[in-house]
Amino acid sequence: MAPRKTTKPAGNGGKNTARGTAGRSTGNSSRAGRPQSKKSGGSTKRRSAARISVTPAIVAAAVCMLCLLITLSDYVDLGLGIPTWNEIFAGLAQELDPDGDYSQPGLAPEGTLEIHVIDVGQGESIFVRTQEKTVLIDAGENNKGEVVERYLKSQGVTSLDLVIGTHPHSDHIGGMDYVVDHFPVKRIIMPPLKESQVPTTKTYTDLLQSIANAGLEITLSHPGDEYSLGGGAVLKILGPVGEFSDLNNLSVVSKITFGEHAFLFNGDSSKEAEAALLTQKGLDPSADVLFVGHHGSYTSTSQPYLDAVDPSYASISVGADNDYGHPHQETIQKLEKLGIPYYRTDLCGNIVFISDGSSISVSTQKGGQAA
Ligand SMILES: [Zn+2]
Repeated sequence: MAPRKTTKPAGNGGKNTARGTAGRSTGNSSRAGRPQSKKSGGSTKRRSAARISVTPAIVAAAVCMLCLLITLSDYVDLGLGIPTWNEIFAGLAQELDPDGDYSQPGLAPEGTLEIHVIDVGQGESIFVRTQEKTVLIDAGENNKGEVVERYLKSQGVTSLDLVIGTHPHSDHIGGMDYVVDHFPVKRIIMPPLKESQVPTTKTYTDLLQSIANAGLEITLSHPGDEYSLGGGAVLKILGPVGEFSDLNNLSVVSKITFGEHAFLFNGDSSKEAEAALLTQKGLDPSADVLFVGHHGSYTSTSQPYLDAVDPSYASISVGADNDYGHPHQETIQKLEKLGIPYYRTDLCGNIVFISDGSSISVSTQKGGQAA
């Protein structure tokens, strides 16, 4: 909403200016016509009229020459640094990207930001909605696609503007093929993988097939990229940064900023990835709500990372009685020591954070309180 508002006045201003100029120019030419019929000052007017008629001819010739050079540079390298038509149009297309990927930070928040941590058992799926856009970060295990679909439909969701597959493990992207099959998706972001790391699992190939069937191309995550979610909300990609052999560490880490608040999503990134992120200038992980990495495993949420994020609340996506013993006591103790209230999907069911940009409220499906 806000980006549109900002765009609109600029557009209207442009139109108004154009109309004003046209009006003035008509007035000038009609005024210029009248004195020419008078004897006094006629010669001066004629000289200036002659100059005016020569100048457009020179400009027109120059424009024609430039067009010719640009056309030629499509075929021959002229060595003059002249762009080709394709390059010019590519530049224009980027500026006019209708997806609004060029965020406008600093806008006042409008509407609300909702973050729904969907209870998908042992796995993760988080639905985000602003007044303009819908985002899904992960979709749980292979058998959870329908759970995610039901939840989204219960929220009146009919399409997804952005889907993020944090990393190619089944507890995150297992249900994503089903989601992509059942909802129109505008963009899907996944982390770049080395060829040797690309999984050959059915889970992964199923997702690639659904993405292809939907006519989508994967947008590779790139730290620092920002996506406007409307209403002044911006999603920024923070990670992964660096190269890792463990796919968990290649999780897309993203942060949504809305008004005074920020929300940090970590996928399954572990301490090594957290440490790499902390070395990056301009990728500030501080947030009011931490969506705890790797289901609360002790291998994530290092003390330096937790200190840097400095959250007021935490959320842990975790299944009851899971095989991994998640969330690990080490992580829980760190949160408790800092007095950070945390919510767990195994105890609370679905967890919903709602912010108007200046306050955050939390509600849970099972009425569970923060531990
Ligand atoms: Zn996981």
